[in-house]
Parts: sequence; structure tokens; C-alpha cells
Amino acid sequence: MSAKDFYEILGCSEKATYEDLKSAFHKLILKSHPDKVHDSNKDADDFHEIQEAWTILSKPESRKLYDAERKQAKLEEESIVVLARITSDELYPKDEKFAYQCRCGSEYIIDNEDLKNNEQFYVACDECTFYILVQVNKNSLNLSSSASFGT
Ligand SMILES: [Zn+2]
Repeated sequence: MSAKDFYEILGCSEKATYEDLKSAFHKLILKSHPDKVHDSNKDADDFHEIQEAWTILSKPESRKLYDAERKQAKLEEESIVVLARITSDELYPKDEKFAYQCRCGSEYIIDNEDLKNNEQFYVACDECTFYILVQVNKNSLNLSSSASFGT
């Protein structure tokens, strides 16, 4: 994943809707299309960046993944410590939710909704400053019955 900020490239906020992104993309692409710009390589680079940004952000799946990675990069900038990257298979059922043991002795509590709605997401520990990154394994995910989870 490149370090470039695709939202910045399109001049949109991370809350931008698909329609916002689309109209921003169309405006930018008209301005920077190589057929219209003859003077420098920089503009050709811009064109490719804009296309790359649009390719990622226009698809819900890749946008979600990109958002998660972008969030991770921001967390790292803020020196928040990601204790572990785990898959949902490593969670254990607890009180109709799922949990994962934190190093501090407390637990990360993971909602079924988060597992259903995300490819991957961060969970903060209530007791300390660690985070975990949970990657959801949809194949083994059985949210209708926590008891059979991960078996
Ligand atoms: Zn903790």
C-alpha cells in the first residue's frame, strides 16, 4: 500500500460519499488527462495517482480495506500500540460476543456487528492503551451460534 493519501489526491474527506468521490474524480481527470497535458511528466504522474485513488475508493471492499490501513497509519503516527494482528478464528466466545485476552489481563470485547460489517477493524482495550487488529475470516464465521465459532 502506498503512503499517498487517496482522499487527499481526490480532494475529498474520508467521509465523502461515492457520489462526492465520483464527481471529484471526474473533475480532476479532465484537468490532468495526458491527452490534454503536454508539458510535464508530473502531470502524467498526477493522472495515474488520481486513477489509482479512484480505483481503490470507488469499490466498497477495497475502500474499506484502504480505510483500515489508513487508520492504522494514523494510529502509528499517534504512537498507539497495536498489540497483535489476529484473525477472527483466534477470538473466543464470551457473553454472546467475542473476546481476546489483552496483555494487561483485561480483555478486548468484540461485537458481532463489527465482525459482520468489516473485513478488518481495530479494537481498543478498556484497561490499557493497546489495540488489536482483527481480520475477519468470513468462511469460519458463524454469528448465529457463538458456541460453534472457530470450530
Ligand atoms: Zn489491555
